[in-house]
Amino acid sequence: MPVNSVAERLRQANHVTVFTGAGVSAESGIPTFRDALTGLWERFDPAQLATAEAYRTDPSLCWGWYEWRRAKVLQAIPNAAHLAIAELANHVPKLTIVTQNVDDLHERAGCEGVIHIHGSLHTPRCIDCAVAYGPILPDQDLSHDGCRIEPLRCGACNGLIRPGVVWFGEMLPEHAWSAGLAAAEGCDLFLSIGTSGMVFPAAELPLRALSKGSTVVHINPSAFEVSADEYFLQGPATHIMQSLLTDAFG
Ligand code: NAD
Ligand code: ZN
Repeated sequence: MPVNSVAERLRQANHVTVFTGAGVSAESGIPTFRDALTGLWERFDPAQLATAEAYRTDPSLCWGWYEWRRAKVLQAIPNAAHLAIAELANHVPKLTIVTQNVDDLHERAGCEGVIHIHGSLHTPRCIDCAVAYGPILPDQDLSHDGCRIEPLRCGACNGLIRPGVVWFGEMLPEHAWSAGLAAAEGCDLFLSIGTSGMVFPAAELPLRALSKGSTVVHINPSAFEVSADEYFLQGPATHIMQSLLTDAFG
């Protein structure tokens, strides 16, 4: 389906759900999970740092990795895709944003009520008693040559402070997941942007939208197969989202 047909659907839609993955933040300089890591982290596989077991086994290595990622996010700014998604709220009757991203770039682009189904780098909590860590996390100096950072400790039970993200093998936060499902099943247009669709259960959302008769459009620079009733727009999120917005609303 060409961009202008998707733009027509966008103009007619009552409820648009935008579902985003790491690709939307890639053009802000935040590496996706599938990008090769660089520098200090090139020897590590992200999937092996993002588990509770890895954290318990080597807390300072894992906390160092998450603090490195949080610092990268703090240095980054929202790109044209985040801004175009935020701008959509001014044009469609109802917009819901469901993200797998653990950064806050949608919020900084001006989006409200973003549903974070994989949690956030900015909401650390105790690994043992789950109490939220209250103080502002210290700034990290990324110029040093070690990657380890000793984790902070919980003020209530002295447990290790962990990042507020969902690790592989963990359940998704219940409230966010049910809100994400409702947004997928209740929309008439579902835009899935910058996600490899390999991480479940998140990757079920486009399928749920499709099963309820919504128009499902995937936006990604790397081509992949979609079923006969889905659409694919190939290109970077910034370019495609800007064109879509211009075509639909001038
Ligand atoms: P992924 O790394 O599996 O896939 C990224 C996808 O983005 C790929 O399909 C790639 O082709 C596409 N992409 C790359 N550049 C793009 C661009 N400019 N525009 C549009 N698409 C582009 O990421 P995922 O599907 O989100 O799933 C993996 C997990 O990674 C998620 O759970 C997420 O929590 C986590 N993650 C988050 C961040 C972040 O918060 N920014 C960063 C890395 C990983
Ligand atoms: Zn605690």
